[in-house]
Amino acid sequence: MNIILFGPPGAGKGTQAKYLVRKLDGFQVSTGEMLRDEIKRDTKIGKKIINDMNEGKFVNDDIVNNLIKNVISDPQKKSKLIFDGYPRSLSQAKNLDLLLDSSNQKLDFIFFLNVDKDLIIKRIEKRKILEKRSDDDLDTILKRYDTYMKTTRPVLDFYSKNPNFHVIDGTLEIDEITKKIDSFIKV
Ligand code: AMP
Repeated sequence: MNIILFGPPGAGKGTQAKYLVRKLDGFQVSTGEMLRDEIKRDTKIGKKIINDMNEGKFVNDDIVNNLIKNVISDPQKKSKLIFDGYPRSLSQAKNLDLLLDSSNQKLDFIFFLNVDKDLIIKRIEKRKILEKRSDDDLDTILKRYDTYMKTTRPVLDFYSKNPNFHVIDGTLEIDEITKKIDSFIKV
């Protein structure tokens, strides 16, 4: 089963992705975590992206699409992918369709975690204390939210026509969100 968790930064995509990974014995595909790992390991990619990441800007599509390609074509992970933070633009969504098609895979669910800006700011400020992410300060949160509204949210039009698309109230408590997601997944 392949699932996309879609929504603004701070919507709870990572938390629900980790739950789904446990439930479905799947693999979390978090481009944000993959990119942070490149920075931590101080790789060539890490050096290229560190400024954009810290400023809350998008990382170049070619870099992100390449990371994704390796995961999707991995036979061990086939039809066990839980996407969190990808796709984030229309071109990434189209790229994902092509990659899934070419490896004979499909999207089983697209869950949109719907949360408003005020709650996002509160959640990310809390996360900053727990995870100490350098892109979680208020200025960067606001920039990331703007980028989300401009570039990522329009991807909803692309997915909302898909019969596997579901809107989930992301303002609920973590367990409640999990229950709503679970109600769609019959395993
Ligand atoms: P996240 O952990 O999903 O909140 O992502 C953290 C940061 O990583 C974002 O603010 C972007 O700078 C970068 N990033 C993550 N995923 C993508 C993506 N799909 N496309 C471009 N940049 C991304």
